Amino acid sequence: MNVRARQKQLLESMRGQGLGALLVTHLPNVRYLCGFTGSSGALAVAPGGCAFFTDGRYTGQAHEEVRGARVVITQGPPGIAAARWLRSARARVLGIEGEHLSVAARAALQRALGRAVRLRATAGLVERVRQVKDAAEIAALRRAVLLGSSLFEVAVNALRPGISERSVAAELEYAARRAGADGMSFETIVAAGPRSALPHGVASARLIPRRGFVVLDFGVILAGYCSDMTRTVYLGRPSGEARRMYEAVLGAQQAAISAIRPGVAAGTVDEAARRVLGKAGYGKFFTHSTGHGVGLEIHEAPRLAGGQSDLLAEGMVITVEPGIYVPGRGGVRIEDMVVVTRRGCEVLTPTTKELIALEAVPPTR
Ligand code: ZN
Ligand code: ZN
Repeated sequence: MNVRARQKQLLESMRGQGLGALLVTHLPNVRYLCGFTGSSGALAVAPGGCAFFTDGRYTGQAHEEVRGARVVITQGPPGIAAARWLRSARARVLGIEGEHLSVAARAALQRALGRAVRLRATAGLVERVRQVKDAAEIAALRRAVLLGSSLFEVAVNALRPGISERSVAAELEYAARRAGADGMSFETIVAAGPRSALPHGVASARLIPRRGFVVLDFGVILAGYCSDMTRTVYLGRPSGEARRMYEAVLGAQQAAISAIRPGVAAGTVDEAARRVLGKAGYGKFFTHSTGHGVGLEIHEAPRLAGGQSDLLAEGMVITVEPGIYVPGRGGVRIEDMVVVTRRGCEVLTPTTKELIALEAVPPTR
């Protein structure tokens, strides 16, 4: 993990905004910049060097993990200690992470610093650096994706009419932990039958019906990095309408993947998917955006949504996940993770996208 290169990039963008000091409190950003994986810590970033602050519970862990910053163990809140350290390094304007600091925390900071220091809310400074993954991150994401996609078979084997969506999720999550996952990257979605028409149908106590689509959307965290994939399978024999829905989403997903290359606006990829679904007559049922960046967090920049002018760049890792949700009839979503390459992109998710129909599912044991 080359934290020095990451810190250098951050300092450059701080300089671009006329900012000489930044207090980093969002833990994924702290981890990205100095390697600390614990749950309490703050990083003070200044051109003269970085300092990491944590409390006594993390003394050993901080000394073991932190790179590219001196380690300071504090009595009180690490964020306040880090801000005071920046003040003593003569910072008069202190950048804070406006999207991650509560109103109460900001007020406490201002009280602790006094009037001589002005707090300036910044947005997405570290997140913009994090958009482009370095080689170590791409390797970590590949491993997470492979573990994640190995769970699809577990879920398909567990699926049968009469058991609850939650028990399918439980099988999948148990296998994830057994295979070495830190945890799940978000609440597992198992949405069967009519519930497949819910774009965010977190596994419920509902029983799996005999017929219809089942949307499976899940991901693991492995060594800190998140995976995210969706496959939709069919229980019973799919009707012509069900096949048309599936083919439309698959076509949209492939069109979006084909549109990905460096220099293309994120919104253009979204349009490519939307155009295919519009032509197939399902445009109004595609009710969310096409994808998102993924890394240390499950939802990162860039956002692949209408009107997004951010340009894609080599090394970004993003999801491509169009879907349609027809109330009363069901829904389909297909999601892969891809890495943007020099000329296009590479799909990381190896799982088949053929429509899987589970026609001979035995009833509940
Ligand atoms: Zn997903
Ligand atoms: Zn996703």
